[in-house]
Amino acid sequence: MAVTTNRIEKNVQRIREEIGEACQRARRHPDEVGIIAVTKSADIDTIKNLLDAGLTELGESRGQSLASRAEEIHAYLQRRRTPLPAPVRWHMVGHLQRNKVKSVLPVVTAIHSVDSLRLAEELQDRAGRMDRRVDVFLQVNCSNEEQKYGCAVGAVFHLGEMIASLENIRLVGLMTMGPLTDDPNESRMAFARCRELFEEMRGERVGDDHFRHLSMGMSSDYVPAVEEGATLLRIGTALFE
Ligand SMILES: *Cc1c(COP(=O)(O)O)cnc(C)c1O
Repeated sequence: MAVTTNRIEKNVQRIREEIGEACQRARRHPDEVGIIAVTKSADIDTIKNLLDAGLTELGESRGQSLASRAEEIHAYLQRRRTPLPAPVRWHMVGHLQRNKVKSVLPVVTAIHSVDSLRLAEELQDRAGRMDRRVDVFLQVNCSNEEQKYGCAVGAVFHLGEMIASLENIRLVGLMTMGPLTDDPNESRMAFARCRELFEEMRGERVGDDHFRHLSMGMSSDYVPAVEEGATLLRIGTALFE
């Protein structure tokens, strides 16, 4: 059954309060922190209710689902009467296979999971044919554990420079996942490491003025993520409980 707009609004309010408190501790402004609603566990009616609750930045972790849901929501928006506070934008937050680039690119705003030159080159090629530029985050493995995806810390700078030089790609920031534990302090260390890399790259002007986002923090660790400088949180389950 769909999660109601009312319930989503209550959850957003609670999350926003926690973000506000974390911002105060970190001396940041809450406007610097955006929420991407990750819809992989939500049904279509719940996604519509997310829109009614004012959440228009949506994320999916699988290429296939992103393409089909974006299409379905697009059709719904053509019929919808009440205007939204902002246009709907889709974010690809999970691993993207190269053979899915073609179907995802027409509907996606940003890809958070670029971790190889091969994938970046496929995006460059396909975006070029569509005559568009796509926003891309470089995904970094900042925890000490073996993660399946994400570029190694030592390779980030060089890969970032190469990706930023592709003309149909805009390198807008770094993305990281906290380690697979329930310990927020483990996540905090990974986020702090990502922030350091981010500052280092920004200091060298990698990606120029576009390079200004840190995509980190999920339902279990968005508080330490905000404290460590996240500008985009990718939140799923905490919106739907
Ligand atoms: C599912 C997912 C999220 C959201 O996770 P929750 O724990 O539901 O908040 C964020 N980022 C990625 C890459 C995901 O796959």
